[in-house]
Amino acid sequence: MTEVYTGEALVELPQSTPADIEEAFARAREAQRLWAQWPLARRLEVFDRAHTLLVDNAHTTADLLQAESGKNRRMAIEETCDPPMVISHYLKRAPKVLAPTKRGGPIPFVSSSTEVHVPKGVVGIIAPWNFPFATGLSDAIPALMAGNGVVVKPDNKTALSPLFGIRLLEEAGLPEGLFQVVCGEGPDVGPTLIDSADYVMFTGSTATGRVIGERAGRNLIGCCLELGGKNPMIVLDDVDVDEWLEGAAFGVFGNTGQICMHIERIYLPEARYDELRDAFVQRAATMTMGAAYDFGPELGSLVSPDHCERVASHVEDAVAKGATVLTGGRARPDVGPAFFEPTVLEGVTKEMLAGCTETFGPVVALHPYRSVDEAVRLANDTDYGLNASVWGTDLERAETVAARIESGNVNINDALATAYASKGTPSGGVKNSGVGARHGDQGLLKYTDVKNVAVLRKQVLGARPGQDYDAYVKQMLSSLKLMKRLRVR
Ligand code: NAD
Repeated sequence: MTEVYTGEALVELPQSTPADIEEAFARAREAQRLWAQWPLARRLEVFDRAHTLLVDNAHTTADLLQAESGKNRRMAIEETCDPPMVISHYLKRAPKVLAPTKRGGPIPFVSSSTEVHVPKGVVGIIAPWNFPFATGLSDAIPALMAGNGVVVKPDNKTALSPLFGIRLLEEAGLPEGLFQVVCGEGPDVGPTLIDSADYVMFTGSTATGRVIGERAGRNLIGCCLELGGKNPMIVLDDVDVDEWLEGAAFGVFGNTGQICMHIERIYLPEARYDELRDAFVQRAATMTMGAAYDFGPELGSLVSPDHCERVASHVEDAVAKGATVLTGGRARPDVGPAFFEPTVLEGVTKEMLAGCTETFGPVVALHPYRSVDEAVRLANDTDYGLNASVWGTDLERAETVAARIESGNVNINDALATAYASKGTPSGGVKNSGVGARHGDQGLLKYTDVKNVAVLRKQVLGARPGQDYDAYVKQMLSSLKLMKRLRVR
C-alpha cells in the first residue's frame, strides 16, 4: 500500500479524446436501451446487492480515497457510507416515485391522463475532487435506478475511488457498458461530454457551474448544478458551549475545510464573544494533523500544493488588509506537501478574499453581533446560499432564526451532516450556490422526462352532430362552473 497522499502521481490516467467520449456515450446508450426495459424491481435488485458490496469494501475504498486526496480516515470512511445511504433510501422510495400516476382527464369518467416517468437516456456527471466517491457514485445511483445510462467524469486527482465503486456495482450485476468513465481536464472533456449528454449533473465551483449551465442551456437539456458556498453559522446567546464546540470544530475543519457545506463564517453574540471565541480557538489550536491510515489525525492534507497556496493566499490577503490570526495561519510542509494549519481569523471584512469568496480550506472568520437581526443580516450578506447553521438551546427560537436565512440547507444544532444525510429531503443551493437539488423525490425525478398519456373513451370533445355551436359553448361554460363547484377540476 502506498503512503497516504504524498503529492507524487499514483497512476497514469488515460486522458479521453473527444472521440473516446463519443464512444463512451455510444456504448452507454446501447446498454441503456436494454436496461430501461428491465422491470424496475429487477434494476433495484442490482442495487440491493451493491449496497452489501459497498459496505463490505468500505475500508478498501477509504484507502483509495486517502491515497488520492489526503483526507483523514474519519472523512474517508464517512464518505464511503454515502452511496449505501442513497441506495437504501431509493430502494424504498423509487417504486412509489417512479410508478405511473393516474390522474383525471378534462372530462370526468370518459377521459383520464397518466403521468409516466421515462428515463432521460444517458446522463453526464461531472464530479469534483473533494468527495469523489460520493459525488461520482451517489449522484449516478438514482439516474441508473430510473433507467438511464451514465458517463461520469471524475477529477483527474481523484478517479480511483469512483472507478473502484463502479467495479463493485458491476460485480453486483450492473450491465457492463452502462456506467462509463471518461478522464481529462474539465475544459478539454466538458464540451463533448455536455454535447453528448441528455442531462448533466455537475458538482463543483460556481465559476465552472456557469460554464456548464450555459452549454446545457444552448443544447436545451436540463442540468443540476451543485456549487460553492460561504456558509455562515449563527450561535445564539443561549448556546450550550460543550454541545456546540465539537460540532463547530467539525463544521469548520472537517475534510480539512474542503466540504462544500463547511462553515467559513461564525457569528457570536457580543455578550458571550470572548468566552466562545477562546473556547473555539483553544479547540482549533489543539487539533492533531497528519497523514495516516488510522483514525489518529483529526485533520488530513489539502488536496494539492496548488490548493494549499490558494488557501494561504486568502489568509495572507486578510492579514495584509487588517485581519488578525488567532491561531494557525501557516502551511506545514514539514507534515506533508499540502498541509495547512487549522486557522481562526478575527476582523475579516468583505474587502478581503476570505470575507467574500469561498476559501475551501481549514480557515474560519469569527464575528461578534449585537442583535439577532444583525446576525441574520450579516449571514445573508453573501452571493452564496448553500448551507447555514444555527445553534441555541431554545429550539423554537433557533428555528425562527433559521427560517430567515437565505440558504438551501439550514442545520439547527449541527453544522452540515444532518441536512446532507437526510436523503429523503432535497438538498441544493440557492443564489450563486446552484440550481436544482440532489436527494428526495426531486433527486430521482430530475433524471426522468414526464410523458403525459391521455385517454378519451368517448368522443365528447366538441359539438355533437347536429348540435348548434352556441348551445355547445353554453353547455361547456356551465359545466366548467359545475365542475369547479363539485371540485372535479
Ligand atoms: P471545479 O469547478 O474546478 O471542478 C469540478 C469538476 O468540473 C472537475 O471534475 C473539473 O475537472 C471539472 N471542470 C472544470 N472546468 C470544466 C469545464 N470548463 N467544463 C467541464 N468540466 C469542468 O471545482 P473543484 O475545485 O474541483 O471542486 C471544489 C468546488 O466544488 C468548491 O467550490 C465546492 O464548494 C464545490 N462543491 C459543491 C458541492 C455541492 O454539493 N454544492 C459538493 C462538493 C463540492
